[in-house]
This record gives sequence, C-alpha cells and structure tokens, in this order.
Amino acid sequence: MNISVITLFPQIIESYFDCSIMKRAVDKGLISYRAVDLKPFADGQYHHCDDYPYGGGAGLVMKPEPFERAILSVRENPTARIIYPTPSGKPLDHATAVELAGSDELIFLCGRYEGIDQRIIDLYVTDEISIGDYVISSGEIASLVIIDALYRHIDGVISKESLEEESFAGCRLLEYPQYTRPEVFGGLRVPEVLLSGNHAEIAKWRMQKRIEKTLKNRPELIEKN
Ligand code: SAM
Repeated sequence: MNISVITLFPQIIESYFDCSIMKRAVDKGLISYRAVDLKPFADGQYHHCDDYPYGGGAGLVMKPEPFERAILSVRENPTARIIYPTPSGKPLDHATAVELAGSDELIFLCGRYEGIDQRIIDLYVTDEISIGDYVISSGEIASLVIIDALYRHIDGVISKESLEEESFAGCRLLEYPQYTRPEVFGGLRVPEVLLSGNHAEIAKWRMQKRIEKTLKNRPELIEKN
C-alpha cells in the first residue's frame, strides 16, 4: 500500500512512520509512504496556505490551490482514495479500517484552523472520516489514528491470530482482560484458570469475560449482534 499524507507539518508524520510496528511494515516493503509538505505548493514569497473565510466568522480556512497541486503531484492512480479526516465525517470503525486496508493508494489531507476549503472536498475527497465526536486541533493526529487503525489489517503486518480475538473483530465483543508476570501484583493474583494450561477452560473463561466487559462498557454492541 502507498500512503501519502499532505500536511503543513511533515515531521509529525515522519516520526510516526519511523517507529515500532509501522517501521517494520515499511522496512518489509508492505507499505510505502510520503509525508508531503504543503507549503511549497502555495503561491507567493511566504507560501500562505490559509486565508479569511468568505462570509466572515472566526479563524482561517486552508486555501484550495496548494491542496490541489499537492494531490495532483502525488496521486499515482485515478482510483486512489483521498481521505479528509474531519469531525463532520462518517465515524471511523473496525469495518471501515478493514475496508481501507484493501486499498492500493491512500492520500490523507490534513486540515488545520477551521478546516479546508469545501471545493477541495467536492472535487477530490472520496472519504470524509471522523475519529470521534470531539474536535482536535489538527488533521495530522486524526490521519495517524486512521492509518494506525487500518495498516494492522494489511496482510503480513500483524499475525492473523492477534487480530482475530481483538475488540470489535469477529463476534464484535470487547477483548478479555490480559495478564503477564508476576503472578501476584498489588495483592491481586492472576486468575487461576490462566495458569491451569487447560485451553478449553481458558477459552471458556475468556469468552465469559468478553461478554461481561461488553455488557458493562458497551452494551449496545451486544444488542447489535
Ligand atoms: N471547524 C471544524 C469543525 O468545527 O468541524 C474543526 C476544525 S479542527 C480545529 C482542524 C482540523 O483537525 C480539521 O480540519 C480536521 O482535519 C482535524 N480534526 C479535528 N477533529 C477531528 C475529528 N474528530 N475527526 C477527524 N479530524 C478531526
């Protein structure tokens, strides 16, 4: 998969791609990426990427021309998905992450201030995605949340077994509680069944915990099942 992120702050994006599991995926050739600096695509000596909103009101709006030029310079395929993370988009969920993981090319547009001129959305954006019902100050963090949710579903990035029992996957329950050494911590002992070596009993216990946790924290997931 080829991921381009168009941004005023490419260093935020680069630092993410240069760490941990994502770095391994890049090194293995499963993902290639570009953190594309928006500024050089803007006109004038100072390369301004924002301007006052038509109609008045608070804040600044990101200008359309630099985004258009940047999109046209990085897009390799007319079928590329062009994603604008925005609070007014469709909520990100497990199914969307899995679906996007099947794409060959993704281009993310990072908004700042009051967001991006609507005409870029009308002309180029294929998916407007929200990471939740709250507003953060930057599209960089929102793009990275979406990228992080989707890339783990690309074949070869993470073992299939790890993905199958995760929250929202398969039977759409939350995950069971996890424990590691030591056996006793803060006066609390690891549940005996996990030390028993009895795989059938462990599976039964884990399913029971998944149901209990889902009923407690996200009962609407059970109703949807
Ligand atoms: N004025 C916009 C509104 O009320 O919908 C909020 C703009 S926000 C300060 C700046 C940028 O952060 C947005 O253009 C978007 O790219 C990103 N952003 C903020 N909250 C987000 C969310 N919940 N989901 C996705 N992106 C978000």
